[in-house]
Amino acid sequence: MKMLDVMPARHPVNATLELTLRCNLKCKMCMFRHSDRENVCLAAEELTSAQWADMAQQLFDAGTLNILITGGEPLLRKDFCEIYSSIYRLGFLVTLYTNATLVTQEILQTLRKYPPHRIGITLYGASNETYQTLCGCADGFDRALAGAKALATLPSVLEFRTTLVQDNHQDMDAIARLVEKEFGLPMTHANTVFQSVRGGCMNVADCRLTPEQTVDMTLTRTIRRVRQLLPPERREQVQLRLADPQPECTAQDPKYTLLGCNGGMNNVTVTWDGKLLGCQLLGNFSTDAVKLGFAKAWEEWPYTVRLPQVDPQCSACPQLSLCQICPGVRMAECGNLQDRPEYICQITKQLVSRKGEDLL
Ligand code: SF4
Ligand code: SF4
Repeated sequence: MKMLDVMPARHPVNATLELTLRCNLKCKMCMFRHSDRENVCLAAEELTSAQWADMAQQLFDAGTLNILITGGEPLLRKDFCEIYSSIYRLGFLVTLYTNATLVTQEILQTLRKYPPHRIGITLYGASNETYQTLCGCADGFDRALAGAKALATLPSVLEFRTTLVQDNHQDMDAIARLVEKEFGLPMTHANTVFQSVRGGCMNVADCRLTPEQTVDMTLTRTIRRVRQLLPPERREQVQLRLADPQPECTAQDPKYTLLGCNGGMNNVTVTWDGKLLGCQLLGNFSTDAVKLGFAKAWEEWPYTVRLPQVDPQCSACPQLSLCQICPGVRMAECGNLQDRPEYICQITKQLVSRKGEDLL
């Protein structure tokens, strides 16, 4: 029996629409950053507003419920308001990801007319100096804060996030305090920064946190959060230890997917140039959603997936349940789908070394 015969039904419930790969910021750790010269060519090949409107209708017909509008920086598109309105009017639950530095009056008016259900704002620092160093933008912080305040006037759920690297991890507490003070909200941060994918030109090895810093940051902030949730008189009575996560699948209840996750099963990405991907990190497996139409491209996509045997150290790894490894991460870190990514392996080793330790 072939795997595709026993695979559960696939439904494109959650779609990520990557309106552009371009961005107005030039962050050192950007997964998708291309050179300025390449960006000119990329812009010429982006789907038009009419193509996005048509794609949204096809997604609606295919049963999609949730749409994530992202980039690059989606607000960079001159026709953002037109694209956004045509998607929104179909009745999806819409999430918008933005760096908040390009919020114009026209965009704000459009979003006020059609408020996204959720807006994810990424802040890269707590000062213009950090934005200059990390993102190459001298007034980036002022612009992001002004944009975030404007977006906070909408009835949307706001989420604030950051990506921590060497140039901004010292700002983490300041960003968290700012978000708490200005918006009364908590911050989340990306635990791990991966190498650029799909032709991105950044080498993040020099700017990302060391495995030790990554694990320290993650544990410190988790512990702080747990402390905040406990009543003060209980804090000394609790011990927190890192444990192995429960494995998702058991032999009695096997779960067949294509990538080992929801990518291509219930989640789908349509790229800036109309490719259908199961995972935004994996350009290897794609069909053409413009030429074939979405429904056919979705149907055909599983037949593009070919995963090789992975490094024997990984396949026999006793720490697999603590490791972030997956095909997308392997591709980003190793540039292929079989090798063992040393950086990810080191993070897992750090986590393992903290297991059993009293953390609280
Ligand atoms: S990357 Fe390292 S920790 Fe992760 S599965 Fe492979 S060998 Fe195990
Ligand atoms: S990054 Fe990994 S877990 Fe996420 S969709 Fe891609 S393959 Fe799946």
